[in-house]
Amino acid sequence: MKVAVVRETRPGEARVAMVPELVGELTALGCLVLVEPGAGDRAEFTDEAYVDAGAVLDEGAVRQADLVLAVQPPDPAVVREMRSGAALISFLPVRQEREVVVALRDAGVTSFAMELVPRISRAQPMDALSSQAFVAGYRAAIVASGLLRRFLPMSITAAGTVPPAEVVVLGAGVAGLQAIATMQRLGAVVRAYDVRASAAEEIASLGAVPIDLGLAPLDGAAGYAREMTAARSARQQELLAPYVANADVLITTAAVPGLRAPVLVSRAMVEAMRPGSVVVDIAAEAGGNVEGVRPGEIVRIGQAQVWGGADVTSQLPAPASQLYARNVLSLLTSMTLPGDSAVFAPDFADEIVAGCAVTRDGAIVHPPTRDLIGG
Ligand code: NAD
Repeated sequence: MKVAVVRETRPGEARVAMVPELVGELTALGCLVLVEPGAGDRAEFTDEAYVDAGAVLDEGAVRQADLVLAVQPPDPAVVREMRSGAALISFLPVRQEREVVVALRDAGVTSFAMELVPRISRAQPMDALSSQAFVAGYRAAIVASGLLRRFLPMSITAAGTVPPAEVVVLGAGVAGLQAIATMQRLGAVVRAYDVRASAAEEIASLGAVPIDLGLAPLDGAAGYAREMTAARSARQQELLAPYVANADVLITTAAVPGLRAPVLVSRAMVEAMRPGSVVVDIAAEAGGNVEGVRPGEIVRIGQAQVWGGADVTSQLPAPASQLYARNVLSLLTSMTLPGDSAVFAPDFADEIVAGCAVTRDGAIVHPPTRDLIGG
């Protein structure tokens, strides 16, 4: 079974889907690992490291592969190079990538979307949304502390007491909790808010203070948040305004699956922040939690610097790739019959396989995507 590791081509993408330290595990399964030259360059993994680990460098890896591993969905032109009957594992945001999904269907490629892996306990090692959110949350805290020209922890010195920085985190999912934990370790005073009922307990368990706005929780399906109504959004902004105004650092991470990120903070709320305040919005690419944010830029709103995240996980490309590669390896292993020559044999009756399969045998098999695109 030939497994290809692609060189990512999307601007801003620095990760790679397989790392040298895991190549040996693929070889042990009975796979031959073909790596496009330079695939790991931007994530600080050299071609030599892949070869030393037992992989073969091959510019034509994709054309020969039984299974292609990627981070971003490949271009339709690359999909058309794949063998009919071959498989793909990558992120594949089906709503935004209809053209790729159609190309996969028409090329007879079986594809699996990492973001569709069901979030059940058995699938935790395959949960790339969580591993990458963990990276993004940490990065958000580090970016904010780098931009802030103040101390984070309280210090008592002979020259007087330095007060701690006040940090507010909005959205306490995987990324938000990691931002909270990192800011706590750096000594800041952290307050956080999320609309899910269980969030307050999770925030408190990290030693941070949950913000209680006295509003009803907005729990939706499968442990995710529901969308806010316009009235709820306005009321939530009004109640959050004093917390935001009092923050030296505001970090926002809120998301609702499949939808634009909710706007939690208006321009006026940022304008009320003190001179030198820092805002880090890692939902910027999904539309932003903060009004006026721009992905990949730092804009000034009032007296605050507002940093908009773009390709945030690619800012820590080696660890993000290591975690993603481990997720991919776990999924791949569950679908492979090991042996002298391994066989890729996904069991479509399995909940995880069925949950993340998008195309198979020339058809779209993920029901919401089939409804969206047809056939
Ligand atoms: P996400 O990236 O979809 O959203 C980030 C956070 O934003 C969520 O906590 C959400 O509640 C919050 N949010 C949405 N709208 C908001 C609003 N208007 N105001 C404030 N906050 C808002 O979330 P995620 O990190 O993927 O986690 C979602 C859920 O999945 C959580 O309950 C998490 O514990 C759960 N989870 C389960 C597993 C598993 O069982 N394997 C793995 C990871 C996450």
